[in-house]
Amino acid sequence: MANPNPVPPLKDIVDGCIEHLMSTDKYQEDQSPNITLAATVANELVISMVNGMSGKHWYAKEAKKYLNEEERDETLYAAQKFNGPSNHAEMCILCVCHDDNDPISYIRCTANNCDACHETLRWAGVTTQNGKNGNQGGGKSQTGWVHPIFPLSIGTQIFSDVPWADQVEALKDEVHDVVNYQSGANLTLPGGNSKKDTTISQDKLKVLFGTPGSSSQEVTQANEDDE
Ligand SMILES: [Zn+2]
Repeated sequence: MANPNPVPPLKDIVDGCIEHLMSTDKYQEDQSPNITLAATVANELVISMVNGMSGKHWYAKEAKKYLNEEERDETLYAAQKFNGPSNHAEMCILCVCHDDNDPISYIRCTANNCDACHETLRWAGVTTQNGKNGNQGGGKSQTGWVHPIFPLSIGTQIFSDVPWADQVEALKDEVHDVVNYQSGANLTLPGGNSKKDTTISQDKLKVLFGTPGSSSQEVTQANEDDE
């Protein structure tokens, strides 16, 4: 019988690299930021962190050093922020991969996904380190969260009267089931005939920041081996 959950290509190098980054003194000093690395269907690697990462960032160069030491020749890119505030690491990568039409085959974060990222990765069919959809949302509410593809934000600061869990539920029901997964698609909300009532109303889903756009840089420089 075929294995229903084959190991994604490049899982070994993504896991090894993330574990290496977590083992560094800098990661402890930085109070464990959410560093995220993904492999794509075209066998490329993309790294990022909250609000994006430049190709010259320490973690990008340390990842490059690790890949060099492992004698890997996959191209490494650093995904920058795509729009507005609160660009979570996973979403920076999802945005770049979406715009490049090169889907994520595997992603690993040093921290749990927040609920909104978790739902968005599930919707995009992305495999996480704990298996498909396994990297559970952290449950902690977010003050502001920006969708990587659609011009849409949610968060407790934006909808202060709607519980975070209901906002994530609305994201699932009223956006992902309705909007086509197309780059630059206009956000069209259903005309009063959603499948079920949710606490958040459709007209409350705010369009704030215009259509997101991605950018990335190839990581060409590795950290020096000075330890
Ligand atoms: Zn998130």
